[in-house]
Amino acid sequence: MKTNAFPPALLVQTLQAAQTYLTSLTERRPFPDAAAQQALQGFDEDLPQSETPDETIVAQLAEIGSRAAVAIGGGRYFGFVMGGCLPAALAAHWLAGTWDQNAFNEVTSPLAHRLETVTSRWLLDVLDLPRTATVGYVAGAAMANLTALTVARSALMARCGWNFRRQGMQGAPALRVLLGAEAHPVVTRALSLLGFGTEEWQTLPVDDQGRIDPTRLPALDDRTLLGLQAGNVNSGAFDPFAEICAKAQAAGAWVHVDGAFGLWARASRKKRALTHGIAMADSWACDAHKWLNVPYDSAFYACRDGAAVADAFDIEAPYLLRQPDRRAAIATMDMSRRARAIEIWAALKSLGRDGVEDLVDRCCRLARRFADRLAAAGFDILNDVVLNQVVVGWGDGTNIDALVRQVQAEGTCWLGPTHWQGRKAFRLSISSWASTDDDIDRSADALIATAQTLSTKEP
Ligand SMILES: *Cc1c(COP(=O)(O)O)cnc(C)c1O
Repeated sequence: MKTNAFPPALLVQTLQAAQTYLTSLTERRPFPDAAAQQALQGFDEDLPQSETPDETIVAQLAEIGSRAAVAIGGGRYFGFVMGGCLPAALAAHWLAGTWDQNAFNEVTSPLAHRLETVTSRWLLDVLDLPRTATVGYVAGAAMANLTALTVARSALMARCGWNFRRQGMQGAPALRVLLGAEAHPVVTRALSLLGFGTEEWQTLPVDDQGRIDPTRLPALDDRTLLGLQAGNVNSGAFDPFAEICAKAQAAGAWVHVDGAFGLWARASRKKRALTHGIAMADSWACDAHKWLNVPYDSAFYACRDGAAVADAFDIEAPYLLRQPDRRAAIATMDMSRRARAIEIWAALKSLGRDGVEDLVDRCCRLARRFADRLAAAGFDILNDVVLNQVVVGWGDGTNIDALVRQVQAEGTCWLGPTHWQGRKAFRLSISSWASTDDDIDRSADALIATAQTLSTKEP
């Protein structure tokens, strides 16, 4: 029988397993080899009838899990746009798990509530967004975009004298949705979830970097919901906010910005100009688990109009009536939720303003370094490397899939394929505090060597 006290030995065992994993990170393969993946079958057991000792649980996770974990926390994982995990953020994550707080509001956790209040202020400060904006914490940028767009929908309808919550969809005033052709699929999905069919919105033409062309922007009005992007998932490009936001503001349109990772460019004096005018928007979605390097399942959105947030999300329940701060607590669709602000606070405090800037600048510098190495070896760099993203072409593209597979199998680094401007390509995202010049050089060497073996083979 298990006792109701936490066994101290379990903590030591867990700490040791974590330590073994973390110290392996600099040298381990970014992606598990076939044997480690095969060993995952060890989890395919029937649900046990009786108790399993806790030390067996941790031992099984340490043995099978640690071997097969994808080392996104190492320095040579460049797939998707991921981001590692800062030591302080991981430590905070352990404590947060230990505390098991429900961040719903001040009554369920004064601790979580205070840290959310502080990090909201810090985030608006470091990203230089309107300091009075309302901030809500969610699982990822997919949810951050959906949450912000939910607010936008009811706010735009309210301007037409329509109370969405009371009057609903049927007969609601028609809104216009404008979206860049390179909008992320989570944004287009969010819009269709919100009742805007894919045939209803208008796609705005983009240039060769994926930026909306402001000269081809249609006339805007106060029923327009305009979705912009800070940081294209392939190229890292930014829409021209200043020009577009000025027009939108004059017309009374709602501007929402998907800045999942690109919003962090605001923390860098070198990169900030890319975001010029972005603070004129109405709402912003941003990940913490990508470029801020906190553990997964962490993002936030900000909305200029706090009253619109309350209109969309406030709920009433008998047991809520005496909440001291009901409105601020309900900025998202969740009720019970994890105290994500604990790790965000730790990351921001550990880095400070200068450290966030360094993190952004270092990743951008390493992206440039990677691109230069590959260009010198005959690869085509297909994007302007303005941020931390590099899109790479190779020959006519027919061997890209084979190259990507072999690079992944070789195991020095991990990257994935993509399509860019009608070409097959692969993509590098440098988004981790752990990546070093040496990681970039080793990865470039491995990639170039793999490409050479492929191109000397008979087709
Ligand atoms: C990653 C990303 C998303 C989706 O974010 P999740 O955190 O995976 O939900 C949306 N937009 C952009 C631009 C992204 O890079």
